[in-house]
Amino acid sequence: MKKGDYDVLIIGLGIAGASLAWKLSQTNLKVLAIDSKPWNRFGDKPCGDAISKEHFDNLGMPYPQGKELEEKVEGIKLYSPDMKTVWTVKGEGFEIDSPNYVQRLVREAKDRGVEVLDLTTAMKPILSNNKVEGAVLFNRRTNEMMEIKAKITVDATGYSMSFRSKLPFEFPVTESLDDRDADVAYREVLYTKDDIEDYPYLKIFITQKASPGGYWWYFPKGPNKVNVGLGIQGGMGYPSIHEFYTKYLNYYAPDVDKERIIVKGGALVPTRRPLATIVWDGIAVIGDSAFTVNPVHGGGKGSAMISAYCVGKAILNAFENNDFSAKGLWSANECYIERYGAKQASLDLFRRFLQRLSDDEINYGMNRRVIREEDLLEASSSGDLQLSTAEKAMRVIMALGKPSLLFKLKTVAEYMKKIKEVYRHFPSDPKDLMRWKSNVDAIILDFNNALEK
Ligand SMILES: Cc1cc2nc3c(=O)[nH]c(=O)nc-3n(C[C@H](O)[C@H](O)[C@H](O)COP(=O)(O)OP(=O)(O)OC[C@H]3O[C@@H](n4cnc5c(N)ncnc54)[C@H](O)[C@@H]3O)c2cc1C
Repeated sequence: MKKGDYDVLIIGLGIAGASLAWKLSQTNLKVLAIDSKPWNRFGDKPCGDAISKEHFDNLGMPYPQGKELEEKVEGIKLYSPDMKTVWTVKGEGFEIDSPNYVQRLVREAKDRGVEVLDLTTAMKPILSNNKVEGAVLFNRRTNEMMEIKAKITVDATGYSMSFRSKLPFEFPVTESLDDRDADVAYREVLYTKDDIEDYPYLKIFITQKASPGGYWWYFPKGPNKVNVGLGIQGGMGYPSIHEFYTKYLNYYAPDVDKERIIVKGGALVPTRRPLATIVWDGIAVIGDSAFTVNPVHGGGKGSAMISAYCVGKAILNAFENNDFSAKGLWSANECYIERYGAKQASLDLFRRFLQRLSDDEINYGMNRRVIREEDLLEASSSGDLQLSTAEKAMRVIMALGKPSLLFKLKTVAEYMKKIKEVYRHFPSDPKDLMRWKSNVDAIILDFNNALEK
């Protein structure tokens, strides 16, 4: 069996693994990055392809350019189920060509010294003294097994979680996913029959009827091409996503030319708080495999890049201190929680609330401004749902028709605050992780019960 020794082994070259490879290529670490797919399919996965510009700015990642950039986004239009209320939220972003962007990151990383193997799958972890020390790989190009030792192995395997799931149960990074904490999502990219009006704006249609527990989107990729799709909550026994797609496509995207489909496909998206810890002894987990997706809007590319950024910094730290244990990598958790994880946990609660609302309640809430654009924007950027006292009083009067809705909203705001507080007290020592995690689990359970009342 072929053998090799590296500082870091990255398994998976989607946006998460590619971002980490790109960051680490700026250091002098010896890095091997692999993916089961061939080079020309790196980054090729079903996605809406929308990313907020702020992620690139905050993380020092290069903007998509040339054929990597399909459209500059100026904002989002959010439609109520009855289409009577439209909220416009301004914000810069990109509609990217994901394979082109991801492959550019990997190419630049390779040019700077990262070794890259395509058609190569991590089959199982190498373990010693309860630490991950690399992986056994199979390279389909050369048809050979490889034993790769690494000080730190990074699972960037996306929703498949195909590496971390093979670790012993005692590793906390093996945490599994409840089906209801995921969305099934499907999209097609098609040409439109006419030019799209207002194409720098993404459209989101909230509708429990046509996408229960999720939403429909219409994301233009320029004036005559669009990424259109929907997500529905998993584990609920709903009809298949294709049934919803076929039934409602004409309604949400009447202008698409069904004869001119460029690409189509579906996949699953985790929609919960992140893994309790994204690192353990000799291992780090990033991207969808670490559940880093935004629970409310399902966007996971930007937060996958955040997790790569935090793990990249923690890896450098670990090498400086020559400590590759959970403790040596722990700063990855602190960094991720501060930048995104605490907000994600509070949005996990908000998502549970939203998924239980009826179309009537959403129409009412949006139309009467029980929640307003600003509240939603604030909630989605910070994870706080603010309801000031005076406004609350006003809204009680206005919302007399639906007092239970307002009451629930208040409960949601309280719990969102509570869970963020618990995340603020994330333990500084890995040995306290399980105690902390049981506090988080208790809040989620309590919250679910409060919603059922
Ligand atoms: C339909 C849909 C629409 C979406 N829309 C948006 C959107 O508009 N904006 C947004 O930000 N997010 C969106 N998301 C979410 C987003 O696509 C993901 O969060 C993001 O792409 C995850 O990136 P990743 O690198 O973690 O995983 P992936 O892109 O899944 O990459 C994982 C890689 O690991 C490789 N791999 C797996 N196992 C192994 C193994 N054992 N050995 C070697 N390689 C392995 C795979 O081949 C793959 O290339 C959407 C998701 C879906 C399904």
